[in-house]
Amino acid sequence: MTEPKAKPERRAAVLFPMPLPEAFDYLVPDGLELAVGDHVIAPLGKRMAHGVVWALKEGPGERALKTLEGPAGGAPIPQGTRRFVDWVAKYLVQPPGIILRSVLRSSEALKPSPTETVYTRGSGEPARMTEAREKVLDAAEALGEASAADLAREAGVSSGVIKGLAEAGALTGLTRLVDPPFAEPDPDRDGLPLTVMQAEAAGKLRRLIQAGGFQSALLDGVTGSGKTEVYFEAVAEVLRRDPEAQILIMLPEIALTEAVLNRFEKRFGSEPALWHSGAGPKARRRTFREVAEGRARIVVGARSSLFLPFTKLRLIVVDEEHDPTYKQDEGLHYQGRDLAVVRAKLEGASVILASATPSLESLTNAEAGRYVHVHLPGRPGVAVLPEIGTIDLRETPPENGRWLSPPLLEAMRETLERGEQSLLYLNRRGYAPLVLCRKCGHRMMSPDTQSYLVEHRYTGRLVCHVTGFSMPKPKRCPACQAEDSLTSVGPGVERVAEEARHLFPEARVEIYSSDSASGADIVARMEQGEIDILVGTQIAAKGHNFPNLTLVGVIDADLGLAGGDPRAGERTFQTLVQVAGRAGRAERPGRALLQTHQPEHEAIQALVAGDREAFLDAEIMAREALGLPPFGRMAAIGFMAMNPKAVEDVAADFAAKAPVTDGVEIWGPAEPPRAVVRGWHRRRILVRADKTIDMSAYVRAWRSRVKTPPSVRVSIDIDPYSFI
Ligand SMILES: [Zn+2]
Repeated sequence: MTEPKAKPERRAAVLFPMPLPEAFDYLVPDGLELAVGDHVIAPLGKRMAHGVVWALKEGPGERALKTLEGPAGGAPIPQGTRRFVDWVAKYLVQPPGIILRSVLRSSEALKPSPTETVYTRGSGEPARMTEAREKVLDAAEALGEASAADLAREAGVSSGVIKGLAEAGALTGLTRLVDPPFAEPDPDRDGLPLTVMQAEAAGKLRRLIQAGGFQSALLDGVTGSGKTEVYFEAVAEVLRRDPEAQILIMLPEIALTEAVLNRFEKRFGSEPALWHSGAGPKARRRTFREVAEGRARIVVGARSSLFLPFTKLRLIVVDEEHDPTYKQDEGLHYQGRDLAVVRAKLEGASVILASATPSLESLTNAEAGRYVHVHLPGRPGVAVLPEIGTIDLRETPPENGRWLSPPLLEAMRETLERGEQSLLYLNRRGYAPLVLCRKCGHRMMSPDTQSYLVEHRYTGRLVCHVTGFSMPKPKRCPACQAEDSLTSVGPGVERVAEEARHLFPEARVEIYSSDSASGADIVARMEQGEIDILVGTQIAAKGHNFPNLTLVGVIDADLGLAGGDPRAGERTFQTLVQVAGRAGRAERPGRALLQTHQPEHEAIQALVAGDREAFLDAEIMAREALGLPPFGRMAAIGFMAMNPKAVEDVAADFAAKAPVTDGVEIWGPAEPPRAVVRGWHRRRILVRADKTIDMSAYVRAWRSRVKTPPSVRVSIDIDPYSFI
């Protein structure tokens, strides 16, 4: 007998969906055939864990390794998805396992679809007919195909009755999949007839698809111009060219309504696969499995659908691309729109960004020629902006401690008397108040970042939430020398609603903000005219059709125009356009009133003139001058701890260890506006860098220099959108 020749050692690097620094190597047992992307079970610490093969290697390893337990089944994670995970991890400065966790959102989907038995009326008759049996047979005829549970419920009988009828042949049982595949969409079904302008825009998108490979376009069409029908033509073209292609259509969560889905069904003759946070585990596992196995053609989903394991992704549409909810601000911080472009590039797919009010980032990309700019003008007669007026708060201020000025109150009264609706809009929710002079409107600013100073009640000092700069509150206004004129202003939705209720006791006043639990209910009541005055943040304005809404009062137009949040002005503009789009479609003209201390500000002037180009020019110049996105890069490093001393020390240590590089500015550590949240004390460092700097690499190098205790949570947000 001769010794069998030693086989070369086979190893698999396995990535687990956990916050581990990298993939771990395991020995592959003899006889186990594995491919990269396969799901496996492997020992991790004292337990068995599910992971994905990230690489396969041959030859002896450097150290003794544990052996894989075995395969876990399920469709493998495709190469495009794996590359996306690696790219995103690097960009967001996160362990790759954290990104993989965003992919593996349904472990049930790795198993085949469960089956169930359904019954139809059979040809047989039961030997003895009872009232219960009769009810079941009636139900079976009414329902067509139904499970035993559904039949029993419908007939109001126990499941034993169903069993007896099935044995007698009066009911026929069939086995079917609980999660059936989605029906194939038909690209050649007739959609809505396109207008000449829509057909022209659709033609441009079709040519883009025909060119193949990575292509990107900005579909810039005013509200009511029918963007959806236009990008449907691009979707149809993709399907015609490759019946196995997959298409992802991303929408803000709130826009995923029944009405929108009906439009898909009408155009393509089948329901799309859905993916959003409200979908139950059953819907999720069905969509995940069908996508991973390459059967689902069109997926309609919220931002997290970007992480689905597509096998043949050929087109991503990001509808309402300017929507701030594409940025995820909790847990994993990412901008879904930006990552959609990355994913398309990695997959060699096309990407279409669509909006009536494109983000400054996308417009800049289009102007630079990086995106094909497809314009879609509105139908004649559709207003772009409502009639916009300003209220100069220096001349007609609200009563002390109030937020609604006399001219706005007058307009609200008129609106109420006509039986129409008002929206009181606040740009920023939860922001600390800024300090301004009641006489001249001068706002107290931080010396080097042009962000507002806010008053700390306990110390009486004015503090910058960006840099941490602070100063005593001056007795006189530095601009006009008025004495005791500096005051903290900054309403919240609750305070404004309270004021409206007090002044209009007969009106029905409701609050709608991003943390309103009953958003859908409020929208429905607003549509049905059951609300007179809606007080809300940006979320209140978008995606809804409120034909009877004819007045928009912007409470804090100034807050949007400067300060720590570079995108606040852009959001005011987008909101007004959205509200106006609705007012323009209805028969009643809408108007908007901006409460401002600076009616002469160029951005306010551009708003009043309804001049998008002038507004964008002013914004672009301001951002370029400050080196803010998209002309520079930003990152936020957050610190949280229960112990205020610990968070302060760690943040200070972190700041002290920042690598010194030309073109990088470090602001802070500072207390963010919400310095304590549910007992957690917070600090923040903001980083601004020139466009030439690789922000991710910089932050990664910095992070690796600092050891932080587990009691202090450190979060990294590349390109932050939230500054509270
Ligand atoms: Zn003053």
